[in-house]
Amino acid sequence: MSAKIISGVETAKAIREELKVEVTELKDKHGIVPGLVTILVGEDPASQSYVTAKNKTAHALGIYSEQKTLPADTTEADLLALVDQYNNDPKINGILVQLPLPKHINEAKVLYAINPDKDVDGFHPVNVGKMVLGEQCFLPCTPHGILELLSRSGVQTSGAEVVVLGRSNIVGKPIANLMLQKRAAGNATITLCHTRTKNTEEHTKRADIIIAAVGVPKLVTADMVKDGVVIIDVGVNRIGMSESGKAILAGDVDFEAVKEKASYITPVPGGVGPMTITMLMKNTVQAAKQAAGLV
Ligand code: NAP
Repeated sequence: MSAKIISGVETAKAIREELKVEVTELKDKHGIVPGLVTILVGEDPASQSYVTAKNKTAHALGIYSEQKTLPADTTEADLLALVDQYNNDPKINGILVQLPLPKHINEAKVLYAINPDKDVDGFHPVNVGKMVLGEQCFLPCTPHGILELLSRSGVQTSGAEVVVLGRSNIVGKPIANLMLQKRAAGNATITLCHTRTKNTEEHTKRADIIIAAVGVPKLVTADMVKDGVVIIDVGVNRIGMSESGKAILAGDVDFEAVKEKASYITPVPGGVGPMTITMLMKNTVQAAKQAAGLV
């Protein structure tokens, strides 16, 4: 068996088309243009390319976007003042502070300063708390994208044994939590593995669905999975450089070998990655509708 490829590129494209229609309607019927600001501190090239991609996508969908780049030696107080300025700016519905921040800035303090109604990354404790309670909130973008990939591919999650590898606050913990809830792409039985898990393989071998978010290239090998498993590979690992100077990427799963046993699998690149930015746009549109009292 060779697995069906779950294309994040295609799924993201479909959601972006839906968003474009929604943004046009908001403008035409209500005179509303959703607004997003991305705040980057410093010159980390990876972070720069992420914020550029976010602004480009926003622009393509008709979302107003501002890209604010601050020098690496910006003080915490100045950054907090800027966040506050955008908290009070009616043009802006979503505030995204690109992580990681320089070491002299307390990341949590900055994220907690964002108005939860504009927290389109879904990292504010108010949104995290609401997520855990199953209430309406901004879902963190990568887990949100995974839910969309699963449901739009028709993967049955109800009653499934799901093994999540990795317990980060941005992927592992939230996706494990979301998939155990009574919701679309939920109702699963969850096992969450990390570096202290005694025998990861014992868990992965009985999984119907594996979500790998560890940051270790090709950690999940074919002998660790059962036939027909569904694989969601979140990992983005640079494993080399092509002759043209482009980074060669690998996921957390040995794609070539595992795809021969899996029923569905996401590739890297082109799987979860494109969904993350798309869900940021979805959250921004949601924030604009909420601010206007339309939902
Ligand atoms: P992270 O903060 O880097 O933490 C990694 C997690 O994996 C930790 O919980 C760690 O366990 C666990 N882990 C590491 N090695 C392991 C092993 N051998 N067995 C079991 N668990 C292991 O996680 P992250 O930020 O979620 O990132 C994970 C990967 O996803 C990275 O490659 C990142 O680039 C990628 N990512 C992609 C997207 C996207 O949009 N595609 C978004 C976010 C992240 P401990 O807690 O015990 O240390």
